[in-house]
Amino acid sequence: ENAPRSYKRILLKISGEGFCHEGGFGIEAGELKNIAQQCVDICKSGVELAVVVGGGNFIRGATFAEDGHIPRATADYMGMLATVLNALALQETMEALGQPTRVMSAISVHSVAEPFIRRRAVRHLEKGRCIVLAAGTGNPFFTTDTCAALRAHEIAADVILKATKVDGIYDSDPKKNPNAKLLTNASYAEVLEKQLRVMDLTAITFCMDYKIPLVVFNLRKQGNIARVVAGENIGTKIVP
Ligand code: UDP
Repeated sequence: ENAPRSYKRILLKISGEGFCHEGGFGIEAGELKNIAQQCVDICKSGVELAVVVGGGNFIRGATFAEDGHIPRATADYMGMLATVLNALALQETMEALGQPTRVMSAISVHSVAEPFIRRRAVRHLEKGRCIVLAAGTGNPFFTTDTCAALRAHEIAADVILKATKVDGIYDSDPKKNPNAKLLTNASYAEVLEKQLRVMDLTAITFCMDYKIPLVVFNLRKQGNIARVVAGENIGTKIVP
């Protein structure tokens, strides 16, 4: 199951918060370079890489629409545009490090990115280009986690790697329970039953329905992405 180099095509989900310091806002150069370098290392190892970027470092639709005059749908479109900012920054930084990269967007921003077209996305991967998928699913009321699940299935990725700021999934909230235990393995049924906080329900049920494996791991530990890609037992693995 965990044989090294078992993954040929990977979908990596990086939340917006990965682009800035804890509690920060926007894009910080150091964090950006760190993410880009880790992504480049994966590509250089010969693994095909699709990255889905979040936008929470700029805006989250639900929070932004909470008590204002801005409808949720508009706030969500704003959130999707925020992911485009992260995607463009990641693209340029990866290319500066020598890795050909293409941003593909789910909403049309044709002056800065090509549209997401499944067959073209797969072609980029086959040619050794990293693809950065921006604007989530292109629909309000969804999340970039759901986008990660959807696109992983579309491009037939072997696994979704969800980079977070924690080491993985705990059996209870580690902020409330000091004895919370880090799980190394779990099933989607368990995630649903115990209401473990991994991804939103739409994303979870999609992964469960289509039997897509997921690894949740800590992005902040240097070289962690490469370790997960190599099949090391890091973080929490959720198997269908
Ligand atoms: N969003 C959306 N549809 C999608 C993906 C994202 O409407 O398919 C919006 C939504 O408002 C979300 C925001 O974009 O809050 C940023 O994405 P997300 O919260 O998933 O980013 P992350 O938490 O991963 O940084």
